[in-house]
Amino acid sequence: MTDASNLTLFNSLTRQLEPFKPVHQGEARVYTCGPTVYNYPHIGNMRAYVFADVLGRTLSHKGYKLTHVINITDVGHLTDDADAGEDKMEKMARVAAESIWDIAAHYTQAYWADIAALNIRQPAKWSIATDYVPQMIEFAEKIAPSHCYEIESGLYFDVSTVADYGRLARAVTDEGEGRIEAVDGKRNAADFAIWRKTPAGEKRQMEWDSPWGPGAPGWHLECSVMSGDLLGFPFDIHTGGIDHREIHHPNEIAQNQAFCCTNGLDVPANSGAKVWMHNNFLVERSGKMSKSSGEFLRLQLLIDEGYHPLGYRMMCLQAHYRSELEFSWEGLAAALVRLKRMIIVAERLAGVEAGDAAHPKLAPMLETFEKAIGEDLNTAIALTALEEVLAAKKVDPSAKRAAVEAMDAVLGLDLFGTSRADLRLRPNTAEITEAEIEDVLARRKQARAEKDFATSDVLRDELAARGVDAMDGDPLGWEWKLG
Ligand code: AMP
Ligand code: ZN
Repeated sequence: MTDASNLTLFNSLTRQLEPFKPVHQGEARVYTCGPTVYNYPHIGNMRAYVFADVLGRTLSHKGYKLTHVINITDVGHLTDDADAGEDKMEKMARVAAESIWDIAAHYTQAYWADIAALNIRQPAKWSIATDYVPQMIEFAEKIAPSHCYEIESGLYFDVSTVADYGRLARAVTDEGEGRIEAVDGKRNAADFAIWRKTPAGEKRQMEWDSPWGPGAPGWHLECSVMSGDLLGFPFDIHTGGIDHREIHHPNEIAQNQAFCCTNGLDVPANSGAKVWMHNNFLVERSGKMSKSSGEFLRLQLLIDEGYHPLGYRMMCLQAHYRSELEFSWEGLAAALVRLKRMIIVAERLAGVEAGDAAHPKLAPMLETFEKAIGEDLNTAIALTALEEVLAAKKVDPSAKRAAVEAMDAVLGLDLFGTSRADLRLRPNTAEITEAEIEDVLARRKQARAEKDFATSDVLRDELAARGVDAMDGDPLGWEWKLG
């Protein structure tokens, strides 16, 4: 077991870097807010899971027994986080004229496909919100007498009943801020529904009986219940995107305080988790990434354009998770080239068995890596340490292989499971097969070796006529691309 002090994490609740000290000796229990499965995730959403994956891999690497839970929200998330609007799932079901259950199943599968493509490890548990409704009702019954009140639209949480409400957001919670839409009968602007009643005379596709009448749980309640049930309060780390720092997580915290009968957030564990971590946003040049415009940035779009998904993972790792990251196709292409360079070296270690990474030449690089990843997951520096190891000369290949494997176990670039050919830029609209291209390129190479430049030119033109550019001497190292 490594010394706890060699892992420092930024706690959004205290806004400080803190040495990681697990609640249970030798263990790390992590809860990650998962997707609302009403649509495909965009690549910004996937940044949140790449971040959580690197966190989980780091905890495993540092010797902790990891229990990671990611939830799937298939009910209760309204179109406006601030407790207004319509259920996102219901809205999509109406627009698509399909059942909510079919929609949830379809988009959950699509999300899991992205998880696999990005080499994100499977968590110990995917918790599906609708599987936990009885536990949600039980939780709500326990906190209702002292913390909730009932109005026509549902059971509401009174945020004035817990200490330090909103500390995570550093938000002022008075009405003046106007961040939470008015609902008739609400006592405080920031109060939120933990149970939404089905309006009289209506029937929702998804509804359950409860002491407050038929209805559905609130989104915030879901995460409190699943995290507490599966990991026990307090657990170690709760993660999500930075938007969750503002409303969703403060509301989860308020419920957790009510449930655990604790007050005051000067002791972070009273919030239900000792550490709250948030990844910053992936943004587009035009601003916020959104799913509302017709063709939004899905991982599949990147793949269709010829970019291997691990190129996107590399792009995420190049930035610190707490920095905003701007997406651009040029940036993605550069990240893919960087990955390709690493894979070219890794391919040379293909048949080598990993030995002992302890080699005097590699020691300082391994140390830099360890320090970087331990300092609030500095993947950008960790990547450069990995590159130094790959480039190191006169090092026993078995030591090198061991070092690269150890580093890649944290970064998850799958360097030994991906080939250079996998990374080729080849949009799926291409009409020529890869084998055909390779065949012509091989003949062209042969012609050039024989100084038969006329044939070489003919073959080059033949490729060009079929939409393929041979990229002689390309500084980025690609052999060809579709024109
Ligand atoms: P949602 O499916 O909307 O609940 O979002 C899933 C996760 O993605 C949440 O943790 C969000 O905070 C996070 N998220 C949303 N947009 C972005 C973005 N542009 N960049 C990074 N993370 C995001
Ligand atoms: Zn959540």
